[in-house]
Amino acid sequence: MEDASLPPPPAPALCWDCGRALEPADRFCRFCGQGQGEHVTWYYRRWGILVATGLGLGPFGLVLVRRTPVMAPPEKWAWAAGIAAVTVWLGYRLYQAVLMVKAVLGMASGQF
Ligand SMILES: [Zn+2]
Repeated sequence: MEDASLPPPPAPALCWDCGRALEPADRFCRFCGQGQGEHVTWYYRRWGILVATGLGLGPFGLVLVRRTPVMAPPEKWAWAAGIAAVTVWLGYRLYQAVLMVKAVLGMASGQF
């Protein structure tokens, strides 16, 4: 969390996405259109990655974690490990559910 009493950091000199030069007043890249600093697109922010990954992207949310400019590499690795762990856990639960359905169907049709 950033301290709200601190002034915002100076604008980066280069676009985080395409790497081209920015004017100090630019809030969006003039070449690729990506938001800079606090104008980063919602799905590259932490809450956006959480929402997009939780509501549909699943393991594909790793793409957002890899590309986001708001995290340093150690934080990206932590997020990637968390997404991978949840994906494995959900996959295991799905596997258990399939086994249970097969068992119930097997009992109903007299197999066993
Ligand atoms: Zn750019």
